[in-house]
Parts: sequence; structure tokens; C-alpha cells
Amino acid sequence: MQTIINRFIKYIKIDTQSDPNNPEFPSTKKQWDLAHLLVEELKEIGLEEVELDNNCYIMATLPSNLDYKVPTIGFISHIDTSPDFNATNINPQIHKNYDGKDIILNAEKNIILSPNYFEDLKQYKGQTIITTDGTTLLSADDKAGITEIVTAMEYLIQHPEIKHGKIRIAFTPDEEVGKGAHLFDVEKFGAEWAYTMDGSQIGELEYENFNAAGAKVTINGKIVHPGYAKGKMINSMLIANEFISGLPKNEIPQETSGYEGFFHLHTLNGEVEKTTLEYIIRDHDMNKFNNRKEQFQQVANDLNKKLGSDLVLVEIKDQYYNMREKVEPVMHIVDIAEEAMKQLGIKPLIKAIRGGTDGSQLSYKGLPCPNIFAGGHNFHGKYEYLPVESMEKAVAVIVKIAELVAERK
Ligand SMILES: [Zn+2]
Repeated sequence: MQTIINRFIKYIKIDTQSDPNNPEFPSTKKQWDLAHLLVEELKEIGLEEVELDNNCYIMATLPSNLDYKVPTIGFISHIDTSPDFNATNINPQIHKNYDGKDIILNAEKNIILSPNYFEDLKQYKGQTIITTDGTTLLSADDKAGITEIVTAMEYLIQHPEIKHGKIRIAFTPDEEVGKGAHLFDVEKFGAEWAYTMDGSQIGELEYENFNAAGAKVTINGKIVHPGYAKGKMINSMLIANEFISGLPKNEIPQETSGYEGFFHLHTLNGEVEKTTLEYIIRDHDMNKFNNRKEQFQQVANDLNKKLGSDLVLVEIKDQYYNMREKVEPVMHIVDIAEEAMKQLGIKPLIKAIRGGTDGSQLSYKGLPCPNIFAGGHNFHGKYEYLPVESMEKAVAVIVKIAELVAERK
């Protein structure tokens, strides 16, 4: 157990936070720091074809030890951590034999991780939990995933009696800013399918995610001295208010769950002369997704009709699609992961992601790629925590999947 803890801590000590506002690739130079360390480590444990390309993607190979051919599979996780919260000087706290009570993250600042609020904690009583000190995120997302993949590869190398086909692994930059799959060379990776180790709690197995679009609404007004404005002034903020009210008021993130889609207004900037609204539009179902985009445009059309000119402009851009469409035709790849979990006594939790993963983009680039738990909870904030036992189980799942694929003669 100490080995896996040490490896995880070595990775989280390196700040790899990505930056959504930097168009360069990768978005932060510091991601190279971990990339270089990983390359050395992968070579050291005995992987082959260890390569770091010019865009900060790492790929490596564990050769087959079979004398017959089985599909090449892959495991993927991401190097960067979320820009949502402080990720510098992470100071992990290790709580052995967790007693099921409140965990004081920071006494001075009175920051407490409580099972009364975060109920999932209760299931880890007796386990070893790694938390933050309340001042940073933990970056288990996705350094737990990296730790698990490296540890599983090392285990397979040290245990040649476990039979497996060719395995490819990859670590990608900039996942948290939505670009992790952009420059991923699927052809070079050369796997028939892969799994991202980037889910949350133990058992998670996901092959459905949202269809996603971003939408920008620009409303042009007309500023006139308020004292002389009658019949002349057009206040773009008031029109924006009408636009917002024109969308269904309950179809928003805080009112929806499961397979329910939404419109989410995340940014609003306004003056009389000009107001911009930025939305994201999400739905698992492709028809409903398309309807949502039409409905969005229709609200603008109706307003323009009413106002008698084209004051409201809408720009909608698709971001990613539900990987289900690409995974369903090769459903055995989900079945194998589910079977691996069952054989290890892990209860599979199969559910639709209310978001996206690198795997959804990779699936559309020709690499079907469901997502498996990495073990952490409360990602992207100071309450993030990771049960070490979940990490160990994830390692076991990777090894078991390799074994099950080797049986597919
Ligand atoms: Zn992640």
C-alpha cells in the first residue's frame, strides 16, 4: 500500500494545472514537468516505445506475452489538473483506518470534511483516505488514474505468469480545458479500444455522456440620453432578460439529473448598448439535443420578429457528442470491464456522465473509450479525497481486463 501512496504523492507534488485562457498547447508549461518524470519512470519499470511528443502526449507499450493474437487495448489518463481551484503546494493528509467521523482538514480555517454532508465517505470506514489540507485541491483527478495505470503496468511486468495481449498506455495534457483529445494521434496509439481511468467512486463505469454545444447570444441596443430616450433607446439588457425568460425555466443544471438535459447560462455581460450571454446546451439524446439548439435559435427569432429588426444574434457551436453511439456497436468492451469488476467483487455502477470525457472525443476519432473509476471524490475542490483501497482496486481492474482480453482467442 505504501508504494502506491508514495507514487501518487510524487505526482501530486508536481503542479500541472491547465489554463483555459491560454490558446497555446499545452496550455501551461508546467505540465511538461510531470510528463518528463513519467517518461523516465515508464522506461525504468520496463515499458517499451516510451514516447513524449511535441504536444506533451505520452505513449508507451507493454508488449504481448501471448503466442496468439488478441486485440490491442489501451489505458489513458490525463496529466493536467483542474483550473477551478488552487493546485499549488498540495499537502496531502493521510488518514489511516478512517473512523467514519469528521475529518478536520484545516483546524485553523475550520475546514471539515464531514460524512454528514459528504455521505459517500461512510462507505470507506476502516480504509486509508488521502485528503487535502483544505487549501488546495488534491488532483486525484487524474493523478490517481496515472498512478493506477503505471502501477498496473509495473505489476504485469513483474508477473509474467499473467497472460496479456499488447497494451498501449497514454497520458494526455489539457483534459480539464476540454482539449485533451484534440491532438491525440489515434492511429499511432494503435489500440482497438481503450479505457480512460478518470471516473470517480469505486465501481463507476461509463459509456454515455452528454451531447454538448456552446452558445453565444449578442444583443445590440442603442444608448440615448435617458431624459430624451422615449421611443429611441433600446436597452439590450432588458432584451437579454426576455431572452433568458424565453427558455424553459426548469431545464437548468440545478433542476435536472439523470438523462435530463439543460440550458445553462454561465456568463452575462451587459450595458445598454450591448449585452452578451454565454450558454452551454446539454442533452444525452441526439434528437433532443438538436431540438434544444433549434429552440434556442427560435427564442432569438421570435424576439427579432417582435422588435422588428435583427438585434439578437445567436452563435451555436457543437463541442462534443455522446460516445454511446460509438460504443454500442462494440458493447463487449463495456462487458469486459463490467466482468472484470464482478470477478474482483466490485459492484459496477453503470451510469450516464453528466458531462464529457476525453473518451467521448476519442470515441468519435475512432477509438471507442469508456470511462472507469479512478477512485477519488469531490473533484476540483478542497474537499477532494481518495481512498487508497479504491486506487488498489482500480489497479486490479486494469490487470483483470488485460487477462480477460487475453482469453479472447
Ligand atoms: Zn479527469
